[in-house]
Parts: sequence; C-alpha cells; structure tokens
Amino acid sequence: MLTKRCIAQFLISVALAAALFVATRSSGQAASSAAQHKPQAPRSVRLYVFDCGVLHNADMGRFNLKKEDVTTTDMSMGCFLIAHPKGNLIWDTGAVPDGSWTPTGKFVTQHVTLPDGQTREADVDKTLGGQLTEIGYSPADINYLALSHYHYDHTANANQFAGATWLVRQGDRDAMFGGKYSGSLQPSTFSQLQKSKTIILKDDEYDVFGDGAVIVKSAPGHTQGHQVLYVKLAKTGGIVLSGDLYHYPAEMKLDRVPTFEYSQDETRASRKSVNAFLKKTGAQLWIQHDFEGFAKLKKSPQFYE
Ligand SMILES: [Zn+2]
Repeated sequence: MLTKRCIAQFLISVALAAALFVATRSSGQAASSAAQHKPQAPRSVRLYVFDCGVLHNADMGRFNLKKEDVTTTDMSMGCFLIAHPKGNLIWDTGAVPDGSWTPTGKFVTQHVTLPDGQTREADVDKTLGGQLTEIGYSPADINYLALSHYHYDHTANANQFAGATWLVRQGDRDAMFGGKYSGSLQPSTFSQLQKSKTIILKDDEYDVFGDGAVIVKSAPGHTQGHQVLYVKLAKTGGIVLSGDLYHYPAEMKLDRVPTFEYSQDETRASRKSVNAFLKKTGAQLWIQHDFEGFAKLKKSPQFYE
C-alpha cells in the first residue's frame, strides 16, 4: 500500500511540475510577444503629455524675477510623445533618469547633482518609460528624438532613445560633446546620442513627416541651438511646445529674460519670431515649465488630437 501511495504522490508532483512548467513558458511567451507588439499607428496625429515631475527653484534671481512676480516658484516638467501616422517622436525627457529611482505610487523627492556640484530637487511619481508602456509604446517604437535643448532637466532619459533618429542643431550638439560642460549639463544622460543616427537641422523650420503637422522650429538664445516644436492637431488646432523660450508666464508678462541664457539678445529675437509664428498659425503656446498651465493639461493615457 505504502509503495502505491508513494507512486501516486510522485505522479501527482510530476504532473504539477509539468503544469507549472507549461504555465511559466506560456506566460513568458505572452510577455515577449507583448514586447514585440508594435503599437498601431493612429489615423491622425496625437499628442500625449507625460508628467516628468516637478522641479523646485530656490533662486528666482536667475530668471530676473522676484518671488512676488510668480504665483509659484515650482516648475512642471513635461515630456511629450507625438504619434503621427508615419512615425513617433519624443520631445524632451525630464530631469530624473528612470533607472535612478523606483516608483512608489507617490511623489518622491530626488536630488540631482550636476557636474559642478550644484544640486537640484525634483519630485517624481512616474517614470517616462512606465508612462510609455502604459499606452503600449516602448523606446524601440520611437523613430525620432528631439530635445528643446541640452540642459539636464530635458535630457534625463535621452539615452533610452539612442536608437531613434536624433534631430538637433549643430550648436547644441557641439556643446553636448565638446568636452567643456557648464553646470546645467548632465553628460551621462545623453552620452549614447553621440552614436545615434543624427539629422543636423539647418533651416529655421524642419518638417519631420513632410506634411506640415510636426515642425521643429529654431529658437536659439537659451542655448546655441534651442528649438521649439509645432504640432498641428485636427481637433485641438496648433500647439507650440515652448522648450525654455520662457520658464514662467511672468517672463512674458514682465518682459524678462533669464540671466543664464547663452545669448539674451538671441532669446529676445526668438521670442519675437515665435510670436509671429503663433500669430500666423493661430497656434497656442504651452510653456513647458509653467506649473499651473501644465496642471490643466490632459495627461497620458489621454491625448490631444
Ligand atoms: Zn528647463
């Protein structure tokens, strides 16, 4: 009897192990086929807004402003996905690299140490990669990466998109790989772009998909090759993503230019030319760091179309 029972128990455990093996294998296959699954191209252009955190600012003097001039000194950090029927573009990538922290479901404060030893504080609650995954995209699905400019609060996750085609101005690229870094650069976050397929944008406007819907527009001054992004949406209309042409709406209202511009004169000229562009196209300007304006935007998984 004992022997029969032992054999029966042995057979049951073999069957269980086999079932477990099959289950593990098939769930593994499901995960890998999900990773290989390409998101379906939308019929019309979509703009997804990702929350890449909140940046705290201790020194308003850098913006030629006083605390009384602004309603909040905090800055939003937007990252954006433009999903076009012909491909996808990421615009700006935040201040905190995804790999440097673990989401807890609540905002956590991260200290970013810049190469010159200065530190900045940013609150984050979701990774950029996690927000992409949530809508079915992975970095491999991104065809183009464009950064408004090379400061650390826009480049944190740039390396994730090194497999995309990088759209950059020569002046910014030279500053990024020239070997001399000011305090606002975090070279480790964009080092892999050096080998990316790169298109150096020379004209004022670069039409990414050839249909006038997504245009990278030159707006130098904040940095040598600072740029803004125009997106034309069927329902919402035109939107210009500001980069750091302005940080606070008060800069526009009070006509102030930050102290740390590459060229204040060029910033003033770029503000004029972007204003003319807004008038011509009827587009609205989204100031990416404007905390209150950003709070009102629909966030991914919702989108503008
Ligand atoms: Zn910025």
